[in-house]
Amino acid sequence: MGNSHHNFVDGEWIAAETGETFENVNPADATRAVEAAVAAADGWETTPGPERGRILQAASERLAARKNELTEALIREEGKARPEAAGEVQRAVDIFAYYGAKARDFRGTVKAASSPDTTLYTVQEPMGVAALITPWNYPIAIPAWKLAPALATGNAVVFKPATNAPDVARMLVECLDDAGLPPGVVNMVTGPGSVVGSVFTEHEGVDAVSFTGSTSVGLAVGAAAQEAGKRVQLEMGGKNPTVVMPSADLERAVDIVASGAFGVTGQACTACSRAIVHEDVYDEFLEALVVAAESITVGPGLDGADMGPQVSADELQGTLEYIDIARGEGATLLTGGSRLTGAPYDNGHFVEPTVFADASPEMRISCEEVFGPVLAVLPVGDFEEAMEVANDVEFGLSASIVTQELTEANRFVDEIEAGVAKVNDKTTGLELHVPFGGQKASSSETYREQGDAGLEFYTLSKTVYMN
Ligand code: NAD
Repeated sequence: MGNSHHNFVDGEWIAAETGETFENVNPADATRAVEAAVAAADGWETTPGPERGRILQAASERLAARKNELTEALIREEGKARPEAAGEVQRAVDIFAYYGAKARDFRGTVKAASSPDTTLYTVQEPMGVAALITPWNYPIAIPAWKLAPALATGNAVVFKPATNAPDVARMLVECLDDAGLPPGVVNMVTGPGSVVGSVFTEHEGVDAVSFTGSTSVGLAVGAAAQEAGKRVQLEMGGKNPTVVMPSADLERAVDIVASGAFGVTGQACTACSRAIVHEDVYDEFLEALVVAAESITVGPGLDGADMGPQVSADELQGTLEYIDIARGEGATLLTGGSRLTGAPYDNGHFVEPTVFADASPEMRISCEEVFGPVLAVLPVGDFEEAMEVANDVEFGLSASIVTQELTEANRFVDEIEAGVAKVNDKTTGLELHVPFGGQKASSSETYREQGDAGLEFYTLSKTVYMN
């Protein structure tokens, strides 16, 4: 995608060369970005909500007008299949429209007071400056679901996209700029997380840090930001299970597991990476699952493949290492397991959809996040064992069960340790108007993203007694 990226600071694009100069340029740009945000924050806070909403809605329209261009960029830069890339761009369009509408009516609530002379109400005030740090796997949707509520509630923003996918982030910021955001309200700085991120987590001008990415980086970012007295939101990794019970419609179960595991090349925080399958249907399920995995066409998204490449050589390497580990641990490789080479694969980091059966809960393939198209299938004897296995990991992001038994469905919802629980549905795929977040090592748990809940992180509540 070329080798020069751009930072957007105080309403202007500044070239930032990659390579050696990244580290020299970016700390200065990151500091300038925070200063520009601090200077712009009051003006944006006092911009009336309806006006902020109008600008966010204009950003949504701008994104919609550039949808084809953004979709192509997303396919080229990150490797999504075309329908996945188009869906992600549309999600960003919808998110800005949704929070644009919220900006018009999100302010606080009037309450009944004990005295007839008192008007009792709450107002939600912006935090000030929010720093947003995002991963490469949804390089337009995740920035959108942080930027839109932060801006809707009147915060100025400093934004650091992932180094693997800066180009679509640049286009997103162009759309915001074109929509009429005042200079300094949104600033974007690309570059290595350790350099830009540490300015964002330590600078006294930043009030809140919202991070999405890996658990190891997130915990370090969260600790540094909290140490510096900032409000912190962390959304991190997952090891999401789908439980398949004997009453399940097996065709549907296979579709749910295969699309959850291999959609977006398994590079989703909510990807299904464990199928926990009752022994009564285990063999039949596996047979159909292998057929489904082998019917997925792998190739460049621009050529219309079902499943694209991994984003980088490093990510591919990580997946291949986990495949070796799983083999070494004694899991049974049923299909896949190899890197794809030769035309048309030589220009990308392609790997086959991979299924390991007979995995046991203590194997690393059953409890560590792979972030590639690799599924571990674990046999279980009954519902109790399925729940024990499902909950026996450090993560708790999304989880699903396939069953026709209402009691199992209800018990699953009650007992699963996850922020998202689904019945007869895949672990991936989210509605934008309901809260999203995880439990355990998947999330900082305090604040949710998306929907109304997504507004809370960016605001402080003030209670007013007006006599
Ligand atoms: P990552 O943790 O490597 O990077 C995330 C972001 O943090 C990037 O912008 C990176 O440059 C930045 N960063 C790196 N080091 C930093 C530091 N020291 N200080 C500040 N920022 C720093 O994650 P990734 O590889 O980009 O994304 C994949 C991970 O994201 C997976 O673990 C996945 O599960 C997770 N993820 C979680 C969610 C969720 O909502 N829970 C959504 C998508 C992805």
